[in-house]
Amino acid sequence: MRLLLVEDDEPLAQTIGAALTAQNYVVDTATDGEEGWDYAQAFTYDLILLDVGLPKLDGITLCQQLRQEGYSGPILLLTAKSSSIDKVTGLDAGADDYVVKPCTVQELFARIRALLRRQSVSGAPILEWGGLRLDPSSCECTYRGQLLNPSPKEYSLLELFLRYPRRVLSRSTILEHLWSFEDPPREDTVRAHIKGLRRKLKAVGAEDLIETVYGLGYHLKPISESQASKQQDSEVEVAVSQAWDRFKKPIQERLISLEQVANALSTNTLTEELRQKAEQDAHKLVGSLGMFGFAQGSQLAEEIEHWLEEVGKIAPSPIGDRQILAIGKIQNIPIFKSKLALLHRQLEQPPKSGGDRLVKDLLTVKETPSVDQPGTPLLLAIDDDLELTQRLQVEALNWQIRVKVAADLRETREAIAKQLPDVVLLDLCFANAPRKGLALLEELTQTYPDLPVLVFTAQDEFSDRVAVARLGGRAFLPKPVTAARVLEAVREVWKRTKPIEAKVLAVDDDRLLLKIFQRFLQPYGIELHTLKDPRQFWETLEVTAPDLLILDVEMPHFNGIELCKVVRNDLTWGGLPIIFVTAHRDPQTIDHIYQAGADDYVSKPVTEPELVTRIFNRLERTQLLRNLAETDPLTGLANHSQATKELARYLHQCDLYHQPLCFALLDLDNFKRVNKQYSHEIGDRVLKRLAQILQQYFRSEDIVARWGGEEFAVGMYGLNKHDGVTRLFDVLESVRQEVFPVAGIVPLRITFSAGVAEYPQDGADLQSLYRSADQALERAKATGRNRILPF
Ligand code: GH3
Ligand code: MG
Ligand code: MG
Ligand code: MG
Repeated sequence: MRLLLVEDDEPLAQTIGAALTAQNYVVDTATDGEEGWDYAQAFTYDLILLDVGLPKLDGITLCQQLRQEGYSGPILLLTAKSSSIDKVTGLDAGADDYVVKPCTVQELFARIRALLRRQSVSGAPILEWGGLRLDPSSCECTYRGQLLNPSPKEYSLLELFLRYPRRVLSRSTILEHLWSFEDPPREDTVRAHIKGLRRKLKAVGAEDLIETVYGLGYHLKPISESQASKQQDSEVEVAVSQAWDRFKKPIQERLISLEQVANALSTNTLTEELRQKAEQDAHKLVGSLGMFGFAQGSQLAEEIEHWLEEVGKIAPSPIGDRQILAIGKIQNIPIFKSKLALLHRQLEQPPKSGGDRLVKDLLTVKETPSVDQPGTPLLLAIDDDLELTQRLQVEALNWQIRVKVAADLRETREAIAKQLPDVVLLDLCFANAPRKGLALLEELTQTYPDLPVLVFTAQDEFSDRVAVARLGGRAFLPKPVTAARVLEAVREVWKRTKPIEAKVLAVDDDRLLLKIFQRFLQPYGIELHTLKDPRQFWETLEVTAPDLLILDVEMPHFNGIELCKVVRNDLTWGGLPIIFVTAHRDPQTIDHIYQAGADDYVSKPVTEPELVTRIFNRLERTQLLRNLAETDPLTGLANHSQATKELARYLHQCDLYHQPLCFALLDLDNFKRVNKQYSHEIGDRVLKRLAQILQQYFRSEDIVARWGGEEFAVGMYGLNKHDGVTRLFDVLESVRQEVFPVAGIVPLRITFSAGVAEYPQDGADLQSLYRSADQALERAKATGRNRILPF
């Protein structure tokens, strides 16, 4: 286990550090808050020990900062102050525990062990797997009673395996957990230590306990299910009753909103807001009650949830400033009330063990605060075209977008005053007056500069497009347009304004489970796409381009293991992180899952903390690498490989919606000369500036990329060649006017040449489309440069 100690009192830091090292922990020491922050950013720690009084950045602030940045491991505060106010401040800042100095090393260690125990999958103080036992308090390791004498590193390795007994640990995970900054490992170190450990295990009869998972890492050989479940059952009995004591109150609190609904029904004051809250609470009860063995309670909660969902389909009527659901339209009220009464009665009894290992996870993982704010964007559609806005509202149900409609200026102002939307969709010609439309666009972009406005219109005049771009409109959609296409653009634009953490695609034939995933993941800014029918897998994968994939094992037509193998064999998608969610826990299936190339698995029923933690663990590892791999460091534009991927996705959508795509290849003219006459640095500045100009000029849904060297590519969805050439000509015009100030030398001016091709008529795939655009570019160069030519 790797710990970070942040302590400015050096003798004390040394003493604690040495004592921890003697207990086989790997310790990095930082002597002020900022250094502690740097270490925590750079490395992975299983636990962080923080002094409160620290130079540069105090321990409480550092602790808050770590939590804000998403560090989820345990934090233990060390402090000389003992007043309870400090304790509260510390714990509020996100610390897990608190030790008052002076304290004995024994006490400190006991607390560290308790915190690490809470982190690990098994909550037991003694770590066990089959016949293997490891006691962290005495550092003693035995196999079937025989003493094992591991070296300190071998001991740490075993501890790591035992704390995460079901996970495949990659070499890099092992390195991150077991080696400190000052003691960097050599290339082959992990393999050498595994080898040593296997030899010692073999000597006491534990052959093949650590298995190699080819290409992924190592894991503990699964013990037979009966052995494991016997051990688990007794643990679970205890865990369930302990967990119930802790969670009884919050669970009963979830009944409050249901009671309020019952009361409101009696007085005919049921608001839509209360109904929503109650539906959420009922949903949470379904999951949590099941976990505590209240099978019938869970069933009742599900029925209540379903009833509330039905009630939600009734349109509320405004009474005063509230939205009231008319009681006359609600059915089955007596049944709801009797179910609620039954549910109360159920919860008065002690829980039964459901034999569910996830109860232990509930004990070990902190409950994540639920965020009530909905993760769906609010779209304000300003249009008097009733038919279109109605289609939008219906289609929006599939897109997790909320739609409000304003048919004139007054309604627009009212709607915005009431709640600022996330995206505005403006019909330029509403009320048949394009001037008014442009004036409103100007008003909106000036009053709310951060509010993205998408414009659509029946008149597809190029001059309108330019006017819209000048006034700050983010995208331009010519009518007629499908509702799906509009909403897709809305979501694209919205995504760019919101720092979405990640996109996840979940494939499962169980609709309810997909819905549960949605609720789990939404509060965390994860954009979830769901797919029920695995036959549509490949298209959905390409269209959604997720950062992570969740797969079910058993599904009709294609099972998850097959899908996983297909992804792993694909050049573009091969590196996608994959997590399995499965009801199977038998070693054979788990083995198949990992063999197929999965990164991790979660067993059903799934808890929110477990799923979220595992997803974030995976994403954190890939996010940084991906950012590096996708953008060109000089210009910040998408690089060649990223652009290729995005283009492939767009071509697919072109087929789906019968739209053209315009592909342009730009090449700076005589750029070698620029480098030579001025300097390479100036050359770089020109490239950066051109990238900026391109980004400003094109719509947010266009692809703008650095194709390589001084060549750029632009992909314009829905535009034909003619429109593409016109747009690029506008860009060329403004590049020509750009003067690059260069100290002491003649000011620099540049131009570019471009070739433009259209999908599908000039090329049926990306390769041939590129070749056509390149041919046109060559012609542009040959005929004098500084021009745009269509293929
Ligand atoms: P043409 O009009 O025929 O395109 O002439 P050119 O000189 O632009 O054509 P060529 O393709 O022969 O040369 C491209 C030059 O672009 C060569 C290279 O030094 C320069 N270049 C490529 N990448 C970079 C870069 O990242 N920074 C700078 N400063 N120059 C670059
Ligand atoms: Mg299934
Ligand atoms: Mg070139
Ligand atoms: Mg060139």
